[in-house]
Amino acid sequence: MKRLYNFSAGPSMLPLSVLEQAQKDLVSYQDCGSSVMEMSHRSKYFEPIIQDAEATLRRVMNIPDNYAVLFLQGGASLQFSMIPMNLTNQGDTTAYIITGQFAKKAYQEGKKWGNAVAVASGEESNFSEIPTVTPDMIPADAKYVHFTGNNTIFGTTFNTLPDVGDKLLVCDLSSTILGKDFDVSKFGLIYAGAQKNMGIAGLTVVIIRKDLIRSDVDPIVPSMMRYDLMAKNDSMYNTPPCWAIYMAGLCFHWVEDQGGIAALEAKNKEKSDLLYDYLDQSRMFHPVAAKKDRSLMNVTFTLPTEEQTKAFLALCTERGMINIKGHRSVGGCRASIYNAMPIEGVQLLVETMKEFEEKNMA
Ligand SMILES: *Cc1c(COP(=O)(O)O)cnc(C)c1O
Repeated sequence: MKRLYNFSAGPSMLPLSVLEQAQKDLVSYQDCGSSVMEMSHRSKYFEPIIQDAEATLRRVMNIPDNYAVLFLQGGASLQFSMIPMNLTNQGDTTAYIITGQFAKKAYQEGKKWGNAVAVASGEESNFSEIPTVTPDMIPADAKYVHFTGNNTIFGTTFNTLPDVGDKLLVCDLSSTILGKDFDVSKFGLIYAGAQKNMGIAGLTVVIIRKDLIRSDVDPIVPSMMRYDLMAKNDSMYNTPPCWAIYMAGLCFHWVEDQGGIAALEAKNKEKSDLLYDYLDQSRMFHPVAAKKDRSLMNVTFTLPTEEQTKAFLALCTERGMINIKGHRSVGGCRASIYNAMPIEGVQLLVETMKEFEEKNMA
């Protein structure tokens, strides 16, 4: 059976053991006679699946008891709207740190609901750097500060949390959740689409401090977009994405089996160091992100010409490494090396880069 090294930014590679377990369970889950895709979400088979997924995520992320875990749909993108609608009243002030396209989209949705203020932006450097934020930059009446923990497209990351004083932090962790250790208690709300580093598309995980879940939200907010209804119904206000939740559960167990997030973070550091160390001395390949803000998960780099980029990508494909083409807004290449990417994949990529450089850089 053929498996490629898939460097896609998302949906991305899953651990082989997770896929194999899903294959075993596919037709008849634990010999119950139905697949998870066919069973009622209220059945005695599915309820333990969702409960175990939540319990396992709580263990691996060390989520405090005063936080709720919600399994939602609509992608990380729906949270751009749900967050202001649930955490604020129309017209309220909120603050956004603009570090890339997803941050910008979140800000634009925030503006539809209230007085969203862009307090800092990395746009001048085409988002190759994370702007510095200090508490005096945040409007005094801002209900929260929203930021994107890891910028999937540009390959930059907040290596330390932004300094926002005593303001509430709301964070999009779509591309770095489970890849790096976070102290959940430092956040008011964390959200992430599952398809980057914890499963498949169709599931969004929201981790929210319970006191922020209001039941007096604006009555115009659709029921499906209310955290209080989702929390009260244990994420089963309507039919949840059962298969995606089952897959996420397998991924959470996989993280635990690997020694937890700290062990994976060390491996991720090793993988990204391999690439960055090579990029730092290469004459052919140039890193995009500012050194201080480099992502552990998405490594962006360019070659001198478009022709060379194409030739290099073709060579990668030939060797079983796919989806390394950069996002159109950055160009060049991007290697997304989430938890499930084995170090062998990164070693092969670096060897291929070396060889390409030797051949083409006389
Ligand atoms: C992929 C991504 C999104 C969009 O996620 P969807 O689940 O497709 O809505 C948002 N933010 C970040 C940081 C991402 O990487």
